[in-house]
Amino acid sequence: MLLEDRTCLVTGGSRGIGRGIAEELGEHGANVVINYRSSEDAAYAARDVIEEGPGRAVVAQADVSEFDEVQTMYDAVSEEFGNVDVLVNNAGITQDTTFDKMSKEQWEKVIDVNLGGVFNCTKACYEDLREANNGRLINISSVVGQQGNYGQANYATTKSGLFGFTRTMALEMARADSTANCVSPGFVETDMLADVPDRVREQILERIPLDRFAEVEDITGIVRFLASHESRYMTGQILGLNGGMEW
Ligand code: NAP
Repeated sequence: MLLEDRTCLVTGGSRGIGRGIAEELGEHGANVVINYRSSEDAAYAARDVIEEGPGRAVVAQADVSEFDEVQTMYDAVSEEFGNVDVLVNNAGITQDTTFDKMSKEQWEKVIDVNLGGVFNCTKACYEDLREANNGRLINISSVVGQQGNYGQANYATTKSGLFGFTRTMALEMARADSTANCVSPGFVETDMLADVPDRVREQILERIPLDRFAEVEDITGIVRFLASHESRYMTGQILGLNGGMEW
């Protein structure tokens, strides 16, 4: 098993890409922590799927934008599984509107979850990731962070921010033989895409050479690779999984 005895914390592991990642890591023998904020049933369903295979799984509720909640989650997780070897910063939200209509609340909410959450979770796990030797920090960004996107100034800003964060963490973690990388998906069929009107979906499709939106399974394999020992010489990278979109 590629990830046997590795403890992997996946934020936003209850639905969408995070759930796919949690299940993929579990399938390869990991101890998986499924973090969620509000989708409790979905989080437990993911846990049950993983427990049917070679991996182990626990569910951990915490709003990643709340520093104290994340610390409490970390304490519970380390009691169950010991050190965190792999942190996947996946939890993210959108609050779309053009900049002229964007309120300070909409701006701050997205920053607090998408970047504040990354700070809080990385901070809680940081000593573990460095001690782990071959610890893995994996940040989920977006092609929107590379291209910008109409109506997503707040979201695009957070996703670009992950590039600088990843590269800096790669430098600071290297001494411990630990790595930091960033996965940057294109448009993926999840609840996040469900609200996009058909007209806009068609416009996006025209920009995707592979002529389809990604499925969650198109993203999870690369995260499994990054989590594993096989990726040990790859750090500070931004891996685009976007069907060939230009950026
Ligand atoms: P999704 O289907 O909407 O799922 C979002 C997940 O994040 C849920 O598990 C949700 O948990 C969790 N979450 C949201 N706010 C949270 C918070 N404050 N604390 C803890 N968990 C929280 O989204 P997705 O499409 O899978 O997106 C996952 C990541 O991929 C995001 O970072 C997103 O920016 C990125 N991404 C998505 C796409 C896309 O097209 N879908 C493309 C590129 C990048 P609860 O349901 O329990 O609240």
